[in-house]
Parts: sequence; structure tokens; C-alpha cells
Amino acid sequence: MGHENCGAVKATLEANEEKKHNKLPGHLESLAKSIGPAIKGDQCEKGDKLQCAVRANVRHVVDALNKNQPIISKMVDDEDIVVVGGVYDIENGKVKILKSETEL
Ligand SMILES: [Zn+2]
Repeated sequence: MGHENCGAVKATLEANEEKKHNKLPGHLESLAKSIGPAIKGDQCEKGDKLQCAVRANVRHVVDALNKNQPIISKMVDDEDIVVVGGVYDIENGKVKILKSETEL
């Protein structure tokens, strides 16, 4: 699950856009390393870039759980579980479930 207005995703976006290679402060550097690949490319060129990147990162993590975690992927293959991504809206406390692969 991701959340709206995520500072870590925002910092990663800004670092990518400015092509700065300055180290981000503290824990953000390692977060940016894992978020970076998820939000690469031009998938978020239109609309709200931050919102789009938050969703792209959630989908990336869902995908990684489905594919790279043997215990989870077996349970998914056996249709015992489904890995579902969601985005938490801090302002209203609601969680939006991402239903499709392409939902932005
Ligand atoms: Zn965050």
C-alpha cells in the first residue's frame, strides 16, 4: 500500500527530474533506490505526476510480490490468495484499491 502525497516518491521524482545525483537525506536515499525503477519512463508524463508515481510504485511492489516471492507466488498460482495494491489517502482516511494494471 502506498499513500497520497508520499514524500519519498516525491523526492525520488524530483531527484530523477533534476538529474541530480546529490545524496538524499537519511533513509530517503535507500527508499529512492527502490522507488526509482518503479517510476522510471514516461508513464507519468500526463496529469498529476506524483499521484501517478505513487500508483506506479504500488503496482511495482505488487508485481514483485507476485513474481519474486516463491511462497506468495505459489499461493497466487494456486488461487489461495490475491495480492492487491492500495493507496491510502491521508486526508480522508480512505484506501483506494488499485483494480487494474493500468489504473493511474
Ligand atoms: Zn510516503
